Amino acid sequence: MHLFNLCGGCGVCCQSSFCETCVELLVPIDNHCLSCALPLHTKTRKCGNCHKSPLLDGACAAFVYGESIKHAILKMKSGDRAIARKLGKLLASYLSLATEGALIVPVPIDRLTLFSRGFNQTSVVLRYAGIAHQHLLLRKMSSSKQTGKTRRQRVSNGNLLFRRRKKIDVRGKTICLFDDVITTGATLKTCAKLLKDAGAARVTAVAIARAE
Ligand SMILES: [Zn+2]
Ligand SMILES: [Zn+2]
Repeated sequence: MHLFNLCGGCGVCCQSSFCETCVELLVPIDNHCLSCALPLHTKTRKCGNCHKSPLLDGACAAFVYGESIKHAILKMKSGDRAIARKLGKLLASYLSLATEGALIVPVPIDRLTLFSRGFNQTSVVLRYAGIAHQHLLLRKMSSSKQTGKTRRQRVSNGNLLFRRRKKIDVRGKTICLFDDVITTGATLKTCAKLLKDAGAARVTAVAIARAE
């Protein structure tokens, strides 16, 4: 471990890549939509969108996607493996409870991103949390960015971006997708459809943070 890391959350010098002040600033999610993990401020079980069409068979996230976790995740995605380690250790008990009984599948990154980042952040977080997982999905390299496209184009593009490793049988299984952040849920929805089409009984998701 380096003696002089900069905290991923606040940028101040610290020894662990994510300082104790930033850890204390994390906002755990108490009440949330059971289908998409959206933090809810009333005692309802589903958000308005999921009442009409549930995103997944279950979803939860550890923290609200606030400033410190946002910076930490961005720093992790820019190649800081120490943050992935810290988050993994921080989330070990949360993740083991939230993923119990499921086959855990990290949302994949494409090969180019893997090459430039040097590691798959979700996989490293799971490893440091001591959670066994399988790389059941692959993400193809996107030739063009999603921004500037219509929703319909993005959705069809999304379907083409993911592929399932066929040698692992998912029929009748409960699969828990793991991602760093849930924002719109579009990625999870695409991955869930692939797995459901292949016969998975239930597809849920757990994330480090959920955007409000
Ligand atoms: Zn900090
Ligand atoms: Zn919802």
